[in-house]
Amino acid sequence: MKRVATSAMVTLFLGALLSAQGPTQFHPGFNLFSKQQDVQLGLENAAEVRKQMVVIKDPVLTEYVNRVGKRLVSAREAQESGFPFTFEVVADPSINAFALPGGPMFINTGLLKAVDTEGQLAGVMGHEMSHVILRHGTNQASKSKLIELPAVLGSQVAGGSMMGQLAQLGIGLGANSVLLKFSRSAESQADLMGSHLMAESGYDPMEMARFFEKLNAQGGGRTLQFLSDHPNPDNREKAIEQEARKLPSQNYSYQTGEFQRMKQVVAKIKEPKPKAQPQQQ
Ligand SMILES: [Zn+2]
Repeated sequence: MKRVATSAMVTLFLGALLSAQGPTQFHPGFNLFSKQQDVQLGLENAAEVRKQMVVIKDPVLTEYVNRVGKRLVSAREAQESGFPFTFEVVADPSINAFALPGGPMFINTGLLKAVDTEGQLAGVMGHEMSHVILRHGTNQASKSKLIELPAVLGSQVAGGSMMGQLAQLGIGLGANSVLLKFSRSAESQADLMGSHLMAESGYDPMEMARFFEKLNAQGGGRTLQFLSDHPNPDNREKAIEQEARKLPSQNYSYQTGEFQRMKQVVAKIKEPKPKAQPQQQ
């Protein structure tokens, strides 16, 4: 009996030791929305984004971001989330991308023009997907409208519009939206989970760190849009590097082979002047 207990303890101890060395585990925080409500909110806001921005229908660009995106979606944490990710390119010169709750992602032409490698793009996309998986947008909305939200969410009927009611609470896509502008701790989580998605897809997580370094070094004006929505956590690059060392797969050889073609096509796209941000009601 005593021996069984000892061996059980050794197993527990070894398990704890192994998990301590494995990748960091993250789980979504407090949330008043159901996952289905994340999806609905994202779909309604995505329809609005398509009205306000110019979606690029070019088949080369569309297929390219979908190939990279689907590769990332095949990673375990994305699969387990069950969210229906979609990927679209929008004509906007700012170096940015954003993902709405439940999975719709929009990638600016400015970002496609700015990345030096496919891995850098996969880094930004993996980071955005992680915000969706960890439900950071609706987590922030839940914390900011703790009192008002339960009645609104509880009165939702299938097929009814959620966006209009939430806009009345100030939860929309306007400037400094709680759905799209995150805290530094949410940023750290998205970086580290993003590194998992990248590694499992065959992309070197350090490419994400390199791209953030590049943005930091550039600074100034609209290039900083990404850093404005996604404030830099401390020691960003170092944290990604440390996490990458804990990952089991170190085979970073995947490429779609279409990066140069994408670059040629996107170079010819002229972006309209950025439109005003949608007004919050
Ligand atoms: Zn972020």
